[in-house]
Amino acid sequence: MAELENASASERVNLLDFDLEGIRSWCAEHGEKPFRATQLARWIHRFCVDDFDAMTNLAKSFRAKLKNLAYIKAPEVITERRSADGTRKWLFDVGAGNAVEAVFIPEDDRGTLCISTQAGCAMGCLFCSTGKQGFNRNLKTSEIVGQLWWAERELRREAGVTDPNDRIISNVVLMGMGEPLQNLSAVIPALKTFLDDNGYGLSRRRVTVSTSGLVNQIDKLGAEVPVALAVSLHAPDDELRDKIMPVNRKHPLADLMAACRRYLRVAPRDFITFEYLLLGGVNDSPEQARALIRLVRSVPCKFNLIPFNPFPDSDLKQPRREDVLAFAKILNDAGIVTTVRKTRGDDIAAACGQLAGEVKDKTRRAERLLAQKRAFGIVPAAGQE
Ligand code: SAH
Ligand code: SF4
Repeated sequence: MAELENASASERVNLLDFDLEGIRSWCAEHGEKPFRATQLARWIHRFCVDDFDAMTNLAKSFRAKLKNLAYIKAPEVITERRSADGTRKWLFDVGAGNAVEAVFIPEDDRGTLCISTQAGCAMGCLFCSTGKQGFNRNLKTSEIVGQLWWAERELRREAGVTDPNDRIISNVVLMGMGEPLQNLSAVIPALKTFLDDNGYGLSRRRVTVSTSGLVNQIDKLGAEVPVALAVSLHAPDDELRDKIMPVNRKHPLADLMAACRRYLRVAPRDFITFEYLLLGGVNDSPEQARALIRLVRSVPCKFNLIPFNPFPDSDLKQPRREDVLAFAKILNDAGIVTTVRKTRGDDIAAACGQLAGEVKDKTRRAERLLAQKRAFGIVPAAGQE
């Protein structure tokens, strides 16, 4: 009974921080049987409930314990934007002036939520507005799961959906702010919650992790929870990739391709999705498309071409429409299934890291990045524009 009287606010746990195994051990510590843990998880993740009193099939004594020792809380929403095409974007407050975003993209046959895994990002890719902000901190599991929990609850409430099996969000992609594989200790329990039948019950193929190419962590993800893997490639050779994605200097393309092949041995999905950002005049030539085909020869894959989405002071160019189509045709003709990403939610700046990028750029990274781009010859030197 002492635990009922003594729990201070700092000792209470956010149940969104636990995967199902975590909920089971927490319940066991507090004298509750495993089936109670399953019931609790279903209330949280399938019914999107945060009020313990509404969990009517739990014993009153368990509910009292929960009220005293635990809570269920997603990060607070600061702003919400709605695009004319139905895309929704929420900016979540994660404390200390940091904000992260989630984007919901409705399509005929699916509803995809793109979520963030870090406030900012340390990888420093030259074309990315999140990278421009620098790294602030890793999100906790509750902040990652909380984006899905909150969005599903909000979308259901608006649509008047009450059946917990009627999910509005059918797919989750970890392609928002941050490098998910740099925050694996929080990301893995989140992924397990997304897949668990008593969590969100999503199939492995409907959950995608996107990485800039952290080789050892790709192996770790494969060993722990082999969901669909997307790899941000963006250049066909080390020389260019070193310049636009600093991660390549540590993990060059040959190592990355080897990691992709190893991943496919354990992943239930039989291909890697390569994302390829097209930057006008930098990586969008026909020769580069052909070099790409040679590079990925030994990796079963699909390509998703992403025309560069400019943001204030990005200093890089969008590709020309005809160059995008020619690039896609070369890959398709070589037998590689290639799609060009449709721009969705343009009117609400729904690309990677953009809204939060508008909110703050508190470091002087922007200037440093511009100097780097000039030094690499990716943009003209000052005075020569
Ligand atoms: N850090 C991970 C996941 C988040 S970024 C990664 O890099 O894969 C998600 C995708 O958005 C990546 O493919 C990234 O390269 C791309 N991206 C970044 N900046 C972009 C921009 N300005 N326009 C279009 N896509 C961008
Ligand atoms: Fe980080 Fe991905 Fe942006 Fe690179 S593209 S800076 S890895 S979020």
